[in-house]
Amino acid sequence: MNLDLINLMDLNIAETEQLMQDIGEPKYRGRQLFKWVHQKGAVQFGEMTDLPRSLRDKLQDSAAPGGLSVITAKTSADGTTKYLFGLADGNAVESVFLPHDYGCSVCVSSQVGCRMGCRFCASTMEGLVRNLSAGEIYAQVMGIQAKTGSRIDSVVMMGSGEPMDNLDEVLKFIALLTSPDGLNIGSRHLTMSTCGVVPGILRLAEANNQVTLSISLHAPNDEIRDRIMPINRKYSIAELLRACRDYVLKTNRRVTFEYALINGVNDSREQAIELGRLLKGLLCHVNLIPLNQVEERAYKKPEPARVKEFKAALQALGIPVTVRKEMGGDIDAACGQLRRRVSGDQSVPGRR
Ligand code: SAH
Repeated sequence: MNLDLINLMDLNIAETEQLMQDIGEPKYRGRQLFKWVHQKGAVQFGEMTDLPRSLRDKLQDSAAPGGLSVITAKTSADGTTKYLFGLADGNAVESVFLPHDYGCSVCVSSQVGCRMGCRFCASTMEGLVRNLSAGEIYAQVMGIQAKTGSRIDSVVMMGSGEPMDNLDEVLKFIALLTSPDGLNIGSRHLTMSTCGVVPGILRLAEANNQVTLSISLHAPNDEIRDRIMPINRKYSIAELLRACRDYVLKTNRRVTFEYALINGVNDSREQAIELGRLLKGLLCHVNLIPLNQVEERAYKKPEPARVKEFKAALQALGIPVTVRKEMGGDIDAACGQLRRRVSGDQSVPGRR
């Protein structure tokens, strides 16, 4: 795609209508065009059969539908499929298709790379390359829906990147996703995961768009969290939990805490009790994730018995807790590993 072209996937209905008027077309063409791009997933103007030929020709010269190219796709034995999508500027992002018994979900990336620096994560190892636009995030969902032929019921923002570090585009993405003329996915079916960018959480609470907020907590105290998540030196656990309480108060939604269990770092019984005391009284749910071992990182996951013990200790304190089902472990479907693996190969576009 020529980078000077307008990416139609980035535009909401009002902006698409404005574009039509700017090029001398009636306003109602905007909604038709929006539906082709955001609902029907047209990748070429030739498919847009209810638009006049003259309009399609005009668009051909100035705009692009904004679909992404698939660089690689890997399917796991459990059906999880990980896609590496190519962006117009040659960068690449990862997205994952997760078929569940209760419907299909897609995990999207919000940035190329990440600047948050969490010590156990592969996505952040080379820092932030750039933010994704709303349309580039949306295109990951459209691309997976088209490739799999499955209706997508829910979206989680747990791919690479920190959504709160790109919040303007992420909020626009949410508006696109929930549009009745787009994929029409209810915001309650959208989960935004953050490492704890407090001003972003407060802004999301203010917007009250009913998105599920998921906090990557991973530690029961500041001493440990400071060590594994640099963001904690900016916003302490106390500040983070205050923002979560604000979110619950304003939205009435239960907050999820993600807790990746790392052998010998945050996985003892005492630490489970400390975590339970910390979260007591908050409308929340804890999701335990045995660490996904990243080749380039020294951290290891605990033995299953330790995971069980940690879970039991939290339960004993009355904290709702589950252990996340591991999916796609055989295809590097977690945490920035595919982009790194493929971009290690010089022949692939997107290598910096
Ligand atoms: N930046 C956002 C969303 C992307 S990461 C955030 O931090 O929440 C999605 C989730 O995967 C986060 O909970 C993150 O902490 C976790 N994660 C990253 N690397 C991991 C690993 N090696 N094993 C398990 N979880 C990991």
